Amino acid sequence: MLDDAAAIRPPVLAPVIPIPPDGRHEIVVHDVLGGDERRWVPQADGVSFLPLCFGVTQGYYVNLLRVRRSGVLSCHRHTGLVHAQVLRGRWYYLEHGWVATAGSFILETPGETHTLVVPPDVDEMITWFHVSGGYIYLDANGAQTGFEDVFTKLERARAHYAAVGLDPAALDGLIR
Ligand code: FE
Repeated sequence: MLDDAAAIRPPVLAPVIPIPPDGRHEIVVHDVLGGDERRWVPQADGVSFLPLCFGVTQGYYVNLLRVRRSGVLSCHRHTGLVHAQVLRGRWYYLEHGWVATAGSFILETPGETHTLVVPPDVDEMITWFHVSGGYIYLDANGAQTGFEDVFTKLERARAHYAAVGLDPAALDGLIR
């Protein structure tokens, strides 16, 4: 919560209808492009993600992906739907003719396999991703080299939080 919230908004009201007993609370993460650098979870050389939501009951996750190196990042196949919104930088897939730039929205479809590239003149790429299902990472011959989904993301984030002195229990607040 912002410290000066009282100065910039009216008092909080009770909802006209309360959230149902089995409903879950909203998630609010502030200052996603700044704040504590330790919140960024390393994923590979020059690649990290900022967790925003772990949708364990529906098999999705939401995060910011940040890339600070150029070249081919990964070839991967999606098992589920992906929504993306580019916030900084520029990237493209080898298999498509378009280039995603800050302000671009992308919907990636289940079953799609593509290879992510960040051009050499881009110092930093940050993209918001809502990922359903998983990423199957592939080598040039199509053989699987890795896998990621909401569960691997959560596990990696917890280990990172513990390693850098953040409370892993803070991540529980992002689970839905
Ligand atoms: Fe993709």
